[in-house]
Amino acid sequence: MNNKYKILIVEDEENIRTLLCALVEANGYQAIEADTCEQGRLMFTSYVPDLVILDLGLPDDDGIKLLKEVRKESLTPVIILSARSDEHEKVMALDLGANDYVTKPFGSAELVARIRSAIRNTRHVLDDCPDGTFTTGELSIDYGARRIFLKGEEIKLTQTEYNIVALLSEHCGKTLTYSSIIKAVWGTPDYGSTKKLQVNMANIRKKLGLQPGQNSYIVNELGVGYRMNGPQD
Ligand code: CA
Repeated sequence: MNNKYKILIVEDEENIRTLLCALVEANGYQAIEADTCEQGRLMFTSYVPDLVILDLGLPDDDGIKLLKEVRKESLTPVIILSARSDEHEKVMALDLGANDYVTKPFGSAELVARIRSAIRNTRHVLDDCPDGTFTTGELSIDYGARRIFLKGEEIKLTQTEYNIVALLSEHCGKTLTYSSIIKAVWGTPDYGSTKKLQVNMANIRKKLGLQPGQNSYIVNELGVGYRMNGPQD
């Protein structure tokens, strides 16, 4: 018996699949391989993996279809891996419940970091009490009191700004699309929603002392959405 986390890799290009298997096994995970949607479906059912890395362009069907099927029955984290750099594809995959999106060619270190983050945060979301506190690096959130602290000092946010930060933290490690954030924070999106979100986010970044382009706490996936980085190992 081993108690390694199982990662299902659904990818039809053999070179990439072999590379991915070697990469995840070198990082202490057990790799399960599939090269079609159909095989991915079978492997998912028989192995119940802890995470799925899913290519979108598969020979028998679109990976999006497998993503939908997985999401229908489980919260298993799914990282989309695809050559398609089209923003529309990313947004669709994320809105359908993918946890993250990595575009080929990808950096090994980055992919491993995304895998760790997706597995850890799924456990975090499942285990955590919503009235508790959240901590990542020097940022902490007291959900009960609706207060945010950076290096122990309270950061004064408006209600809307707090709602955005709390939402991102509850899904930390996952990129939330602009429209899913807008829907969660304001309800029905209207014409000026994206602008409102951008203005609020600019204020949040200013209050948290984040420089544009700085890679910490809240990351802007340009054209797609925002992600809060989870605690590091
Ligand atoms: Ca492919």
